[in-house]
Amino acid sequence: MTTKLNDTRLALFGGPKTIDRPFKRYNPIGREEVEAAKQVVESGVLSQFIGAWDPDFYGGPKVKEFERKCENYFGVKHAITVNSWTSGLIAAVGAIGIEPGDEVIVTPFTMCASATAILHWNAIPVFADIDPDTFCLDPKSVEANVTPFTKAIMAVDIFGHSANMDALMEIARKHKLKVITDTAQAPGAMYKGRFAGTLSHVGGFSLNYHKHIHTGEGGILVTDDDELAERLRLIRNHAEAVVGDMDLANLTNMIGYNFRLGEIECAIGIAQLDKLAELVTGRQKIAQRLTVGLAGLKGLKTPTIEEGCTHSYYVYPLVFDVKKLGISRTRILEALQAEGLQGLAGGYVNVHLLPMYQRKIAYGTHGFPWSSDVCRREVNYAKGICPVAEELHDQTFAGFPMCLHELTDDDVALIIAAFRKVWAQLDSLHA
Ligand SMILES: *Cc1c(COP(=O)(O)O)cnc(C)c1O
Repeated sequence: MTTKLNDTRLALFGGPKTIDRPFKRYNPIGREEVEAAKQVVESGVLSQFIGAWDPDFYGGPKVKEFERKCENYFGVKHAITVNSWTSGLIAAVGAIGIEPGDEVIVTPFTMCASATAILHWNAIPVFADIDPDTFCLDPKSVEANVTPFTKAIMAVDIFGHSANMDALMEIARKHKLKVITDTAQAPGAMYKGRFAGTLSHVGGFSLNYHKHIHTGEGGILVTDDDELAERLRLIRNHAEAVVGDMDLANLTNMIGYNFRLGEIECAIGIAQLDKLAELVTGRQKIAQRLTVGLAGLKGLKTPTIEEGCTHSYYVYPLVFDVKKLGISRTRILEALQAEGLQGLAGGYVNVHLLPMYQRKIAYGTHGFPWSSDVCRREVNYAKGICPVAEELHDQTFAGFPMCLHELTDDDVALIIAAFRKVWAQLDSLHA
């Protein structure tokens, strides 16, 4: 008879689970945030924005305090809060002076909002492929996708690692393009001594509740460009209502919104920013232990960190060499999940394959903007245009969301044990 202790069968085949308890939910919100929010609520001023040319056009005391604090922290000239990073991306694309029909080169391996922000201004997303090691835009593919209609590049610092900013900024200089960085997932990650998100013309971070630090919903735009900063602030707050009073001559994309972040969120953000470094360091320590613990497992690639970079591990990325292993990702994940591993999921996003791009239907029913004359050429979204991103998504990539759980040292040891157990019996998965 096998006892539980010496039963080494995979849980998938009836053996005991390696991890027999749920991981604790990640929650970076503590006393400091409660106190900060309470003070704002008690003050009665939950927002102080006015959508007219007035000192309060730029928001109330907590908005300003949080923005000045972000400027100091990230080492940028301007930080502008917004009510989500999706809003931030929309403001960024508008602020660079995009024209309808202009092309913006973007990665498909990202959350859909990166590309939607481009379409929002009736500009055309063009998808370039990604680097198989960092999962960020491959500069070679970006260069190959530049056309006379290209206006900008949108790089995404996916999972917590910066895109190759030196190469992307060089391409931008050569072709006179603007660069926007979507650093939603990588606040606190470094690129050659500077914070990821601060190396482009305009960048920024998400503050939604499943990122490293959060204010429930929210975002922060960062730029060193005075004019861009002012245009971002205008788009954030009903631009069209104030440009007259401001005597602004250039009305390009001065269609405004209400993208304003509230006083409560900004007060919470001030407290959260104090914790960012520690939270990211905590993730880096866990990731380091995982990488050491998973080393040597055949056909399993742990994260790559480029020279001069640090990773903030919003997601701990893994790649299975399914050809070498001769086992599908689905089967491996089944075995790991049966061992009690929570969170690890196969694939990521291939934005170009979403129905909106496949059918080229965004605004209305007639295929606007692609079908209109603002779009000056046939843009290809067919499967096959981004082979690296597609293979990762379809067959080889699995991400472990690090901001879902508060992992203890024991949890990390159990995760490693689950992988090692499955890898020791990979042959049994061939069936
Ligand atoms: C979260 C995220 C966004 C959107 O941010 P929100 O604050 O949720 O609007 C955009 N891009 C990426 C890569 C993200 O991870």
